[in-house]
Amino acid sequence: MAEFLDTEDELNEKYSELYKILDKSQNISFFTGAGISTAAKIPDFRGDHGLDKAPLNIAQMGISERNLDSKMPTLGHRIISMLMKLDTRFKFVATSNHDGLHQKSGTPWEKSANVFGTAFIEECLTCKTQYIRQVITPALHRKCDDENCDGKLKKTGVRYGQTVPVGPLRRAEEAAQASDLVIVLGSSMRTYPFCDLPSLSNCFVVCNKQDTPYDNEAKLCVHDNIDNFMGRIFYHLFPGEEEKLNMEYRQDFAMNVVGEEVIVSTPRVNEPAVFIDNIQLKLPNGKMRNFELKMNGDFSLPLEQIPEHTLTYQVLVEFKSGFEVDKTEVTFMLGEESKGALIKNVTYDL
Ligand SMILES: [Zn+2]
Repeated sequence: MAEFLDTEDELNEKYSELYKILDKSQNISFFTGAGISTAAKIPDFRGDHGLDKAPLNIAQMGISERNLDSKMPTLGHRIISMLMKLDTRFKFVATSNHDGLHQKSGTPWEKSANVFGTAFIEECLTCKTQYIRQVITPALHRKCDDENCDGKLKKTGVRYGQTVPVGPLRRAEEAAQASDLVIVLGSSMRTYPFCDLPSLSNCFVVCNKQDTPYDNEAKLCVHDNIDNFMGRIFYHLFPGEEEKLNMEYRQDFAMNVVGEEVIVSTPRVNEPAVFIDNIQLKLPNGKMRNFELKMNGDFSLPLEQIPEHTLTYQVLVEFKSGFEVDKTEVTFMLGEESKGALIKNVTYDL
C-alpha cells in the first residue's frame, strides 16, 4: 500500500476539525496498529518498508521477540499514556501490536487490551493462570510460577491464522462501544477482527499514512506521522507541559546468596534477567570473577570463588546490545535482596 502525507493546508484544516471533535468528546479510546511502533524501528507489516516484503517465515513470526526488550516507546505511545493520566476523558487503548510498548510507556495493563496477545504475557497451559512479565522470557525449561502446578508456560502472542483470545477482544469491543470518540492510529484496518472495532463507537477518526477500507465511515482521516498527530493533540490540550512526557525506564535486578552460590536475577519470580549479557564481580584486590549463565537464565557464581565474604559486592553488569547504556556498576549488600536499577532517561521533543 502506498504511503502519503496530506499537504500542510490540508493538515491545518483537518487539525482544527480534530480539536473541535476532541473538545466535545467525553469518552475517548485509542486503537493502535503497527504504524505507531515504526518510529521505534519495529517494522510495519503493511507499510512501504513492511515485513510483507520480507521472506514469508519472518513475516509470519513478526518482529523477533529477542529485540523487543531494548525498544523504547515512541512519542505517540508516551502521549497516549500521559493523556490517560492527565485527562479522565481518555479511557482506554486497544492495540493489534504485541510489542508491549503501550505498557512500557506507562499505560496500565487494566486500561489496555492487546487484542492479538502479547509477548510479555505468559499463560500456564495447565492452570490457565496468566503472568505479566517485564521482560520477554524464553519459554524453554520454564514451568508455571505456582510450584504445585508444574504446567508449561506459553506466550500469548498470536501468529497469523491463529484464533484471537476472547478476553482482550471483548474488552476492546466494550471500550469502542462506550466511546463517543475512537482515535485509530497507524492501522491499515485490514486485520480482522481488529478492523471492525472502531466503527462500534459513535465517531472515529483515523491517522494513517495509507488509505483504509473504513475511510468512508470515519469522521476524519488524517494522513500524517503519528508522532506529529499525537504531538498536536497534546499541545492543544496541555500547552507548555511537554516536560511531563519525559520518562525513566528502569529494570531492577537482585543478587541473592542461595546455598553455595551467588545468584543474579530479576527480583520477580520466574523472570530471569534476560537483558543482562555478562556480569563480573570485582574483588577488593581489583581482580574480576565471571558469573556463569545458568540453564534457567539466571547468572551464578560459586561462593567459594569469593576469597573473603565482604559486606558489599561490587558488580559490573553489561547489558545486551540494543540498550543505550551498555554497562553499569552496582553495589549489592550481602544477604539482602538487593536491587540495582538500570535507569535510562527517555526524552521526547514535540
Ligand atoms: Zn499453572
